[in-house]
Amino acid sequence: MLVFKFGGASVKDADGIVNLASVVKRFEGEQLVIVVSAMGKTTNALEKLTKAYIDGDDTVHDIFENVKKYHYTILEQLFERSHPVFDEVANTFVEIDWIIEDEPHDDYDFTYDQIVSIGELVATRIVNAYLNKAGIKSRWLDVRGYIHTDNTYREGIVQWDKTRFVINRDIPGLLQNSIVVTQGFLGGTSENFTTTLGREGSDYTASIFAACLGAESVTTWKDVPGILNADPKFFEDTVKFDELSYNEAIEMTFYGASVIHPKTIKPLQNAKIPLMVKSFTDPEAPGTVIKDNAVNQFLKPIIILKQNQVLLSVSAKDYSFISENHLSEIFGFFSKCHVKVNMMQTSALSFTVCIDLYEERFKKLLQALSHDFKVKYNDGLSLITMRHYTPSSLSALAADKTVLLEQVSRNTVQIVVK
Ligand code: ASP
Ligand code: MG
Repeated sequence: MLVFKFGGASVKDADGIVNLASVVKRFEGEQLVIVVSAMGKTTNALEKLTKAYIDGDDTVHDIFENVKKYHYTILEQLFERSHPVFDEVANTFVEIDWIIEDEPHDDYDFTYDQIVSIGELVATRIVNAYLNKAGIKSRWLDVRGYIHTDNTYREGIVQWDKTRFVINRDIPGLLQNSIVVTQGFLGGTSENFTTTLGREGSDYTASIFAACLGAESVTTWKDVPGILNADPKFFEDTVKFDELSYNEAIEMTFYGASVIHPKTIKPLQNAKIPLMVKSFTDPEAPGTVIKDNAVNQFLKPIIILKQNQVLLSVSAKDYSFISENHLSEIFGFFSKCHVKVNMMQTSALSFTVCIDLYEERFKKLLQALSHDFKVKYNDGLSLITMRHYTPSSLSALAADKTVLLEQVSRNTVQIVVK
């Protein structure tokens, strides 16, 4: 039994979906669970739609029209107008119509999940219909009945016992007759509301299915040849790893490498299931395998870039020292506002953190903190992490950049730059 994950870039247009089917055809006879993300940049568009709706901004309708047009153009390239998939897609999109007709719910994250999830629901309808059309017997599965989460919207916490139980109850039987296509990134609560698992969470979905079913391996099919030491969009002369240990992969994702979702590795590591990262345009090529006892070869340091960072400094209003009581209070606010800290430093009078900018959460955090503390911040920054650095790579990294904060440990250096 194999689990495949196809991300947004692999299904961004009609050619991508045709290619997906040709990749899947190579595995004829295998039991396959296929996890699919929203097509192309759909999740970003639906995020914008959610924000416009909550802000009472008229652009909500234009954004929605564009999302629909994008999907219908692809549908028309793949199917005859009379194909039932047109209705399936329309019936899925109508959920957004129903939401935006009403007044916004006061929980932003709840609304976000109900709207943004439509991207995966539509994508899987299209992929499933196309696989069947291409002669691959496939079945569409609503993942919200299988991956059970609590109601932490936008970051659903998986309830493993329940999830494992229903997956094992149903999926092996389904796989006897067909492959299964399901949505990445989504979960369901006990009240049947939709949750999401965090941006780029489809990898995690694949890993949950694999761990529950004891799969032979997970393959995530990407637009890169495997895992590289740095993102080729931002850095030159990148090299691919043939193998990586689970621990190195966990470290990379912790520091923000977007190649795999951070929660993906642990369930696979516990179950000793290898994760392969392969190219969907070159499926024969070996890619990168993340596994036990991998031979880590760091011919070049690993560089991870996180953009859209904020450096936030907090100090006491009466200029007193930052004490453990202050820190405890400050961390309480971070936890309440769901703001994660990427890097931090304390001095006598201030506490400084580097965080991702999520506007809504950041606004809440500022509000909460400014009651008792003085807050200053600097946005539009980047956090660069280098693992297995060498002295020369380190000086090259900081050259021609304004470094606002730096931390160096034996293995890893992090700098926040303008
Ligand atoms: N579609 C979601 C996102 O773009 C989940 C994923 O791609 O894994 O974040
Ligand atoms: Mg994506």
